[in-house]
Amino acid sequence: MHKFIIKKFLIAIFSMMLLTSCKKTETGDIIVSNINIVDVKNGLLIKQQDVIISGNRIKKIIPHDRFNLKSNVILEGSGKFLIPGLWDMHTHMRSYSGSDNLPMFIFYGVTGIRDLGLTNHKLIKHWKSQIEQNVIIGPRIISSGSIIEGSDPSFKSSIVINKLEDVEPVLDSLIAQDIQVVKLFHTIPSEVFKDIIRYSKKRGIVTSGHIPDDMNQITAAQAGLNSIEHLYGIWNTLSNYNNLDFSADEIENLAQVLIENNIYQTPTLVSEEYYSKLGQASKNRKTEQLLFETNQYLELTPKYFNSWWSMLKEQHMQNLTDDDYLQARSSFEFMREITVKLNDLGVKILAGTDVPNPYVITGISLHNELEHFVNGGMSPSDALKTATLYPAQYFNRSDELGSIDENYIADLVVLDANPLENISNTKRIHSVIYNGRLLTQENLRTIKADQLQSLAEYSEDDFDQFIYMDVRRNGVDSVRRKYADIDRSNANAKYKIESYHLVRLSKALKEGFQFEEAKKALEWNLELFPEDEITKALLLEQRN
Ligand SMILES: [Zn+2]
Repeated sequence: MHKFIIKKFLIAIFSMMLLTSCKKTETGDIIVSNINIVDVKNGLLIKQQDVIISGNRIKKIIPHDRFNLKSNVILEGSGKFLIPGLWDMHTHMRSYSGSDNLPMFIFYGVTGIRDLGLTNHKLIKHWKSQIEQNVIIGPRIISSGSIIEGSDPSFKSSIVINKLEDVEPVLDSLIAQDIQVVKLFHTIPSEVFKDIIRYSKKRGIVTSGHIPDDMNQITAAQAGLNSIEHLYGIWNTLSNYNNLDFSADEIENLAQVLIENNIYQTPTLVSEEYYSKLGQASKNRKTEQLLFETNQYLELTPKYFNSWWSMLKEQHMQNLTDDDYLQARSSFEFMREITVKLNDLGVKILAGTDVPNPYVITGISLHNELEHFVNGGMSPSDALKTATLYPAQYFNRSDELGSIDENYIADLVVLDANPLENISNTKRIHSVIYNGRLLTQENLRTIKADQLQSLAEYSEDDFDQFIYMDVRRNGVDSVRRKYADIDRSNANAKYKIESYHLVRLSKALKEGFQFEEAKKALEWNLELFPEDEITKALLLEQRN
């Protein structure tokens, strides 16, 4: 009896050893073990998988416990959810210094952005190489470089094309700078607009843009504009748009043309929502504070955004009437309805925010955009596609980005809760993997602490922060004229002005490869502070 038990015990041990030794071993640089993968293509969960990452690629995905796992970095994923890294498909980045708000994308799981202009492309390229070399933390950037406008450009950084003969040479020069998307403005004459799209296609570059007033979404789609921003031109497309209504025939016809031509829509609802929030804010001061000033995400935002936004908010609230607010609310809701309807009909929607529009905050706003989609009636699984699968398809890179598959680039977000059940769970970020690099909870906390520390050097009242967005848009000369009669003796002035402010501005412009503008900032400073030795020395250095 006793002997028999021992024998049985030995057999059990032996067979366990046999089983273990039969299991193959898988090695990787990072292994995420026993995690639920969100399959964005099919809107399904694939439960309890081991994801093996080698270099910056996903090497293997296997059911949990099938293999022995060997890695220096094993992330225990049980009860957690893995989604592809998110894309913000409409941004206008411009850091004041260093990389100031780029890490915030990664902090919020946004591992890729499509940047649609206003930033010097040399700076973007500089960031890209620094990100690649792990010098700074930031997302994958696909950039348009300058915006293309017709005559009288709204932005100093724009490039003008208003003649057919300029189309090919100007696009050639942009493409020679390594841009990966062409951004068009509604001010371009329509025949030139169509020709820019034709030539971009020929050169293999995707397009994105606003639509000229004498075109509508149907004609823009037929011309092949790859993505329509802000639902631009929808008012010329739906005959009853002004009454915030559309017929089933009309919207189905539009959807059909968009699908046939493979055109995406980037509605940027989160930017649209701002005006309707102003309406609520205008009711009473407390709501205003709640909606804007006490926003918990503001503390992570560069001061030059905050001061620009609060100035715009004041202007808007002075000029807008109650009727305007109501209209803004219904127009926001109508745009959301159109977006969800087009999605239901099979049109591909892209999640984009238009950060840094007023109170559209880097990173977190992308999650708010997804929430708008779902609040309007889109399913969470469709909403996820707009920030993962569709961006990859738009860039023709769906063989390596936008979903979780073997040989795909390891841009991934680990969530504590299931986003297919509640889209807001995309905000419950446990950790982030970008380009095969793991950022643990501790790393993410450090990113946040570093951000707070670097922002603490600035105040919203500092003159350079106060004028920076204006400078970026219009240039130093224009801003200098605007503040020509500045009264520095006024203690109640809206902003503080010290000699180091414009020195700091100059340094930021120089870092952004805007050398002429940097010099202009110093010259202006010398006018305000003729005795400032630092400014004198810096100017001398630049002239030599
Ligand atoms: Zn934009």
